[in-house]
Amino acid sequence: MSFIVAIDGPAGSGKGTITKKVGERLNLINIDTGAMYRCVALECLNENIKLEEKHKIIEVSNRIKIELKEDGKVFLNYKDVTTQIRSKEVSQIVSQISSIVEVRLNMVNLQRKMAEGKKIIMEGRDITTYVFPNADIKIYLDASLEERARRRYKEMKEKGQEITYQDVINNIKIRDKNDKNKEIGSLQIAPDAIVIDTTYLTIEEVAERIINIIEEKLK
Ligand code: C5P
Repeated sequence: MSFIVAIDGPAGSGKGTITKKVGERLNLINIDTGAMYRCVALECLNENIKLEEKHKIIEVSNRIKIELKEDGKVFLNYKDVTTQIRSKEVSQIVSQISSIVEVRLNMVNLQRKMAEGKKIIMEGRDITTYVFPNADIKIYLDASLEERARRRYKEMKEKGQEITYQDVINNIKIRDKNDKNKEIGSLQIAPDAIVIDTTYLTIEEVAERIINIIEEKLK
């Protein structure tokens, strides 16, 4: 039987890092659904497909092979793209790509298959509301816009990317707006989700809180 921990939240809310930590501690398979949409976006860039060419984008989402490895590495068509999918270029187009209903349906199908019969922790924007509305545990992570932008900026700088704080805040604002206004799978707080504001908490503190919630449920 599957056991599903669903985590949603906006860009920079700490989902990625925290989900990874909790998954490792409790032996849950970690599924980063944002990485899947990023793979579609990266392949569109690689093939010079424009955002207006919707049918081509849908076709890409049908044909690409996405693998999320246990060590966190992401493979697209058998190539390691772990770093490439976090580039500024991908971040700029991914929310528009993920707004296309057919692209979403393809990714959601894959996500549900990945969870079949497994114990997983899955993070994204619509996991608690659309992908797994009956998840065993639902968590919504949030933080202030400035704090989320600060975290992303630091992360990107550490990876040596050429970007300003203003660029990051602008990108996050646009993504928040796109993510909240999708036809299906928009970012919302599920009525039965536990909301954690991470603005003034450390990664360790949030991870600890989530681990306690899961352990309580597993008792
Ligand atoms: O989580 P991350 O920032 O890597 O996600 C990249 C983008 O993918 C988001 O801005 C969002 O547009 C899209 N996404 C989505 N649904 C998910 C996960 C991510 O639409 N479940």
